[in-house]
Amino acid sequence: EGPLLTLDDLSIVFSSPDEADIVAVRQVDLTLRRGKTLALVGESGCGKSVTARAILRILDKSAAIPSGQIIFSPDDAEPVDIATLNPDSIAMRTIRGNRISMIFQEPMSSLSPVHTIGDQIDEMIILHERVTPKQARERTIALLDQVGIPGPRERADAYPFQLSGGLRQRAMIAMALSCNPDLLIADEPTTALDVTTQAQILDLLRQLQDDYGMAMLFITHDLGVVAEIADDVAVMYLGDVVEQGDVFDVFATPQHPYTRALMSSIPKMQRKAERERLQPIQGTVPSPKDRPQGCSFSSRCPVAFEPCAKVRPDPTRTGKQHRTRCHLIERELKPGEVIV
Ligand code: SF4
Ligand code: MG
Repeated sequence: EGPLLTLDDLSIVFSSPDEADIVAVRQVDLTLRRGKTLALVGESGCGKSVTARAILRILDKSAAIPSGQIIFSPDDAEPVDIATLNPDSIAMRTIRGNRISMIFQEPMSSLSPVHTIGDQIDEMIILHERVTPKQARERTIALLDQVGIPGPRERADAYPFQLSGGLRQRAMIAMALSCNPDLLIADEPTTALDVTTQAQILDLLRQLQDDYGMAMLFITHDLGVVAEIADDVAVMYLGDVVEQGDVFDVFATPQHPYTRALMSSIPKMQRKAERERLQPIQGTVPSPKDRPQGCSFSSRCPVAFEPCAKVRPDPTRTGKQHRTRCHLIERELKPGEVIV
């Protein structure tokens, strides 16, 4: 049995009448295994959310997918290339409504402020199943209970603004689960929450993933969260996946200079001495408009060498499922072993 979702050579381009096209995502290959969690990690603007939105075909009108495939292979249906579907087609709407759900950092982007959470979830259920309103409400209450909302029967009558941030997040998760999705896309779902609530929501998502047997694409800028939740990880920088692999491999033996720099910035007490020795990443991420011609990281890379600014490295296998896009790896060099 192959993967649930495969992104193959996927590029996403934004165009505007006055400016040159902007390549937001370039030639990305990703694999999402059934029932597993793939974390997409990187700084804001690196293309994580755009990639997620492409999977649901909810990109802005100015965005296009000039090349690549998004192959979705649920257990009980023929594989489909989402990249070829019309975003407004019935096929695509069915995928969005029944098979792939998304949750966001801000629950109010998926919850309506003027309806009770119970009514909103009931409506989702009635849209997808032949049930009476009474049966729908019972399912809603069961869902609210499952996501850990106390007093679910009464809370179903609450408006979103009457709930705390954590409970709102749980209500949004309940709504996302109401269609029994094959895949849940979570875009920074815990970023706005305090540390305790964040840990509780991560626990909940892990639990629900087990219960539902669904796969998860988890978007975050926080490597600490990746370690908590992911089976696989892909590190993005300026629209490129620069390194990807099993989360243990990547954390134990990060290969790409950008991944190493991200790791060194994890605030951990025991790393303090190490952190002081390591160079921080210099400068800020350039805009995709000013992406260096060769390796996208070359303008900030502390170990860049002769080909880096001119030639884009290809992904190289650095382990069983582990791939890294860097000339050092391609040439089997270690930083400092550069031959000029
Ligand atoms: Fe640094 Fe060159 Fe590797 Fe890019 S290809 S990460 S610039 S060493
Ligand atoms: Mg984002």
